[in-house]
Amino acid sequence: MRGRSMVDWYDLFRPEGSHGGTLDPKPDILGAMDRLERAVSDPDRGRTPVTQRATDRIKAMIASGEVGPGERLPTERDLSAQFGVSRSSMREAIRALTTLGVLESRHGAGVYVTALRPADLLETFSVLAEVSQGRTLLEVLQVRRMLEPAATALAAARASAEDLDRVGALLDRIEGGSDTFCTDTVAADLGFHQAIVASTGNATLAAVNDGLSSRTFNARVWAGHREAGLTAKLREDHERIHEALVARDPDAARAAATVHVLRVERWLSADLAGS
Ligand SMILES: [Zn+2]
Repeated sequence: MRGRSMVDWYDLFRPEGSHGGTLDPKPDILGAMDRLERAVSDPDRGRTPVTQRATDRIKAMIASGEVGPGERLPTERDLSAQFGVSRSSMREAIRALTTLGVLESRHGAGVYVTALRPADLLETFSVLAEVSQGRTLLEVLQVRRMLEPAATALAAARASAEDLDRVGALLDRIEGGSDTFCTDTVAADLGFHQAIVASTGNATLAAVNDGLSSRTFNARVWAGHREAGLTAKLREDHERIHEALVARDPDAARAAATVHVLRVERWLSADLAGS
């Protein structure tokens, strides 16, 4: 902001894309406010403060219940007038919240608040487990070691008979020591743990747990254990978890889940050290 000449200030009031030295007869005040904000904002921040503020205002409208899940958001024009920001900033704020799973654009019908399910809101979070490598992947497993035993213990206390049937059916689909590569095993293993956490009835816990799992990594774990002739160990872990759930024994469920995640964590540590 310091050192800006008078000519530069005139530039702020000229509509974007226009050239020429004269001041526009109808200054684009809202646009100028945006450009001023941008001029003084930290260039390292991905979003300008004005868009950030618009994003925060929409979030506040939702948090206060002014617009509820599944309801239509006021138009971009109304919001931009209400918040005193340009329509382009408003559009950018709406786009950012759409990427985060908070808003959805319905063709020809406007912009709506989503159902705000934890699974939708945490979808972008799953990218962490999916693209992480090395040390970060090890950290992800350490977080899983904190969460999964607690979730499995809770499931032992809360799972319904149908939940247990679902978990049992998935256990049957996980490979039992054969050496043939089986993609269903990877999906069934993921599904087994997801079904367990889902049976706690806590959708946020289930979404966080899903976000920390990755099909690619799970496939790598199975391939590594097959190579080392250790798939029977994974099989044992799963059976012990299942037995604890059926016995309605939270302590045993917690212990079995800890052993299972720790086994994978140790395997990854050794794998990283060897590569
Ligand atoms: Zn497993």
